[in-house]
Amino acid sequence: MNPERLARIRQMLALRQPDLTVCMEEVNKSHNLAALIRTCDAVGIPEVHAVWPRRMRMHTHAAKGSHYWVKVQRHETIHDAVGQLRAQGMQILATHLSERAVDFRNIDYTRPTAVLFGAETHGISAEALALADQDIIIPMVGMAQSLNVSVAGALILYEAQRQRQLAGRYAQSCQLPRVEQDRLLFERGYPVLARVCRMKHLPYPAIADDGSLLADEAWWQQMQLSKAAWEARQQDGPCTAFGDE
Ligand code: SAM
Repeated sequence: MNPERLARIRQMLALRQPDLTVCMEEVNKSHNLAALIRTCDAVGIPEVHAVWPRRMRMHTHAAKGSHYWVKVQRHETIHDAVGQLRAQGMQILATHLSERAVDFRNIDYTRPTAVLFGAETHGISAEALALADQDIIIPMVGMAQSLNVSVAGALILYEAQRQRQLAGRYAQSCQLPRVEQDRLLFERGYPVLARVCRMKHLPYPAIADDGSLLADEAWWQQMQLSKAAWEARQQDGPCTAFGDE
């Protein structure tokens, strides 16, 4: 990884906002999902949540590479997703066009926040609404009753970004845990090595401040084994040198 790319990635990581996220409940058009993820990356959201059928695939073209930088955590149920977000101390906001919804600009997004978005056809489920703290709405005065979900996401997330910028939240030291910074630096700075690591179930090495890898000789030897030699070795008994996962 050259020093310019390392500096660029570190600068991006320093602006990440781990206490801001979205949860997409069965958002089922993959270009919408990709567009939402792209906006999340743009405002510094490192991880998003999704409740969707397993067969769901994202149009990576629409994500323009953002999907490499934003982790997508899948959940089987909205109950599981909201439970995890609540355990992280987040307020849960449901984007829903209801009587009790408040204007999205009247929310304090400097608090730890998760915003729920619903499916294109039927919106957020009754179960999700019951789990949320507050419904929020983007006012509509035209003939259409709702916005495209990715457009709604962009408006709300940029309001959150505006508030957080004013509050100095993009001027703090990096909020991401070191282990997560190292994972992203390795996967994006050394994508070929990262792929080999995953294939061989080897741990990722730590990354030095100058971006070089802190790996010992044994790790490099394992990495350099051909696929055939690696498989033969696995049949003889799994490797224990790195604490197999
Ligand atoms: N018929 C659906 C309904 O009644 O909720 C409309 C779904 S809308 C196309 C898809 C998603 O976009 C919604 O579930 C919500 O997350 C978001 N959304 C769209 N327009 C919105 C608005 N004006 N205010 C808040 N969220 C909105």
